[in-house]
Amino acid sequence: MIDSLIVGFGIAGLNYAEQLRQHKKKFIVLAPKEDSASHIAAGIINPTVLKRFNSVWKSDEFLNYALPHYNELQDLIQTKIIHSIPILRILNNNREQNEWKVSCSKPILKNYLNNTLISGEKYHGIKAPLNYGEVKNSAKVDNKTLIYKYVKKIIPNQFIDCKVDHTKLKFKSQGINYKGIQAKKVVFCEGFQNIENPFFNYLPLIGSKGEMLIIKCDHLINEVIFKGPIFLSPIGEKKFWVGATFNREDKTTSITKKGKEWLRSKLEKFLNLPYQIIEHKAQIRATVIDRKPLLGIHPLNNKLFILNGMGTRGVLMAPLLSQWLYEYIENQSKLPEAADVKRFENNYFRNQ
Ligand SMILES: Cc1cc2nc3c(=O)[nH]c(=O)nc-3n(C[C@H](O)[C@H](O)[C@H](O)COP(=O)(O)OP(=O)(O)OC[C@H]3O[C@@H](n4cnc5c(N)ncnc54)[C@H](O)[C@@H]3O)c2cc1C
Repeated sequence: MIDSLIVGFGIAGLNYAEQLRQHKKKFIVLAPKEDSASHIAAGIINPTVLKRFNSVWKSDEFLNYALPHYNELQDLIQTKIIHSIPILRILNNNREQNEWKVSCSKPILKNYLNNTLISGEKYHGIKAPLNYGEVKNSAKVDNKTLIYKYVKKIIPNQFIDCKVDHTKLKFKSQGINYKGIQAKKVVFCEGFQNIENPFFNYLPLIGSKGEMLIIKCDHLINEVIFKGPIFLSPIGEKKFWVGATFNREDKTTSITKKGKEWLRSKLEKFLNLPYQIIEHKAQIRATVIDRKPLLGIHPLNNKLFILNGMGTRGVLMAPLLSQWLYEYIENQSKLPEAADVKRFENNYFRNQ
């Protein structure tokens, strides 16, 4: 019998697999080899909220764990996947300039926001007449390469390309059996598709569809991420990630003309260079009603666990959340209440 089955292999499943690997636990991953939110994400690690110049929940803890962790993963798979790169927030008016200065002096933000504004004339082809505020200690992870290489180099014999049929999970006194695979427990890392999981679909995942573009732009620099009304982030070979839309109504992963036009109109508010669109994709972010992650154990079945609800911050949060969940499962550590699925247990019992 193996220790764990991991269902789903986006950035959450990968980070949980890495916890198990580091602790020498036997595990198998079940996930289809298809795009997930993690595959199309920009991979930006941003400890701040750039709409209101605020910090993310537990930003220091998440960042201090994530950065060395992705560097270790990079060494493990022997492929460059993490890039330190500043984010330049285009400031729109004098009020935003003042708010930026005030935010820089807040203890929680002073490690992240540069007090000195950067001249709007510094970068050719970008409209920023009121200058830029710089986010320091930000980074970018190439999730798609990380996922692909991790499967290929690290767990080639522990990965099964399939979509799990939850009705085929059979419970035994010792553990569970899924189509002949025996494991002590299952950790579900299914992103928004958790709404189809009969064990955890009581959790209030809202879901927010995000459409993004990849563009080619020959004369734009590739040393920074620009943040205007949307992100414009370099990915190499004169290509840039552009996005994203937020749509809570449409829960399909189809790309739309409306999404593309919206992205173009926002991009052209600050990009003043010719470009070509070379890709357009969409996925659903697993956003939660209270904007906190979903970690923990099933209310009645002690063999079932979940790691989900990372919203717009999966790359930043998944490493430390995986560690919290591992310690909770294997060493009975406490989970932070704000992230523990116990906070929604009433939903489960109400529906029984
Ligand atoms: C356009 C866009 C841009 C984004 N940009 C960023 C960004 O820059 N930075 C950031 O931190 N976050 C970003 N995000 C959010 C980020 O993508 C998510 O927080 C993160 O990817 C969630 O990871 P996950 O592993 O929980 O879910 P997912 O990436 O959705 O992965 C879920 C996995 O579970 C699998 N699965 C589901 N059901 C089953 C089943 N029954 N059986 C087997 N497998 C199953 C899926 O196939 C998939 O492999 C962005 C999201 C979008 C859509």
